[in-house]
Amino acid sequence: MVVGMEATYMDFCKHSARYPKSREKEYLMIGLMNEAGEVGGAYKKEIRDNVDNKDLIIDEMGDVLWYLTNLCRVYDVTIGDLMHLNIGKLTRRMTPEMAKEYRESMGYPL
Ligand SMILES: [Mg+2]
Repeated sequence: MVVGMEATYMDFCKHSARYPKSREKEYLMIGLMNEAGEVGGAYKKEIRDNVDNKDLIIDEMGDVLWYLTNLCRVYDVTIGDLMHLNIGKLTRRMTPEMAKEYRESMGYPL
């Protein structure tokens, strides 16, 4: 069960979505790729223009989150589910010693 801010945000994303539902998955996949590119573009401009684009990068990361959150709904998972699954995947790549250290320091069940 999703609660709190995560539930509020998931509901907001669902209700602020404006696209043809018949092409929802396609639209969201392309949107996610586009917004990830915008994050990279903002960072690229930091290099080119020697400027600080932190605020723009964070703004674009929010756009990535919107698309990702809507994709989560389509695939019937939550952002929290993704976090849990990703931690599991990445910790399985750790050495047993690293996984044990992580488990003990974070109290996260592996
Ligand atoms: Mg954007």
